[in-house]
Amino acid sequence: MTSKGAGAARPVERKLVSSSPISSGPAEWKPLAAGDNYFQTFERDGGSFRNIVGIVRGTDPNKSNEFVVLGAHYDHCGMGEIPGRMGAKGEIHHGADDNASGTAGVLAAARVIAAKPLPRSVVFILFDAEERGLWGSQHYCAHPLVPIDRTIAMVNLDMIGRSYDGYIFVGGLGSSPAWDEILSKALKSEAALLKNVERDTGGTGPSDHDSFYHVDVPVLFFFTNVHRDYHQPRDTAEKIQYKPMAAAARAALDVVRSLATIKPRPAFTKASGDGLPKGFNALEAAIFLRAKAMTRRLGGLIEAGENGLPRLANIEPAGSRAGLEKGDVILAIARGSSKKPEAFREVRNVEELRVEVEKSEPGEALQLRIRRDDKTLVISTACGEVPEWKHGPAADAGDLPRVKPK
Ligand SMILES: [Zn+2]
Repeated sequence: MTSKGAGAARPVERKLVSSSPISSGPAEWKPLAAGDNYFQTFERDGGSFRNIVGIVRGTDPNKSNEFVVLGAHYDHCGMGEIPGRMGAKGEIHHGADDNASGTAGVLAAARVIAAKPLPRSVVFILFDAEERGLWGSQHYCAHPLVPIDRTIAMVNLDMIGRSYDGYIFVGGLGSSPAWDEILSKALKSEAALLKNVERDTGGTGPSDHDSFYHVDVPVLFFFTNVHRDYHQPRDTAEKIQYKPMAAAARAALDVVRSLATIKPRPAFTKASGDGLPKGFNALEAAIFLRAKAMTRRLGGLIEAGENGLPRLANIEPAGSRAGLEKGDVILAIARGSSKKPEAFREVRNVEELRVEVEKSEPGEALQLRIRRDDKTLVISTACGEVPEWKHGPAADAGDLPRVKPK
């Protein structure tokens, strides 16, 4: 999932682990990109990126030159390089849900289909630079490795790992009259785990199916919605709901099987409007507001500095009035006024600071023990009136409330 501010973000330098072609990989999952490797590389805004593309050829001579795309983005937020839309710069953003979940779904489906190929060909794409604003899928659609006019449909898995109460969202149903029947069949066998299905007709949206919709390919988008850890360092593997995630992947696999087998290819129909869960925009806004709460409470933007210690990267006017300076390293924090502070708690990284700040009340004074050059100082700050944090949906200490399906 990409956020609206992502496209305008300043590009950052990316170091590739290896740029040499690989020839190994799942034996049956054939490379599709040039030069006998799985990488489709591209440059954009000074950065170097690569999609990973493979194919299982169809078995029916009359259908194998038609293609079903199953895709997911495999990039995430790195070390918080896109400011304001994720956790602190310098923190590892694990991206277990966004989007290791969808990536795993594509790999699992590729393994199954490679073992038993289908009449039509299936193309598996792991997109890069989705979080930058769908760059990987936009590049693929502008430079497709199989003809777009013979790409009969695209199924997108983005964030399928946080299904609560059997919830799943499926978007894009208006992009082909064939979808209703294909999807209903696929979900029927997963009804025990995915019993709370929200459907939407819209074919566009903030993920990679959007790029295919815009070149007239029918699209389907599986998504279990955003949550309080969305684009935060806290999106980690132990929070994944593995059973419903596997069910979502199986449903997508069943959809791909139908697509690769049915007689007439699905027709494309226009389905304007973003296909997103009801209340999505308000939910996303509340999450980002919550993510900014630490900045507002402390009076400055925090980044992970030397040894991971929280450091002030930028000072807001309220922080400046309190006496904070850019570069100050936060060593410990105490709640309460300077006259009556509670015991100081040491913070060894940004996450520990975040946990302490979240315990505080809006408007409550905080004492920060900081290191500035070789001095240690205590600064009293009471910057953060963050009423929305307390009163909005993000006030929930657990996961955000799930939006009831339409
Ligand atoms: Zn995302």
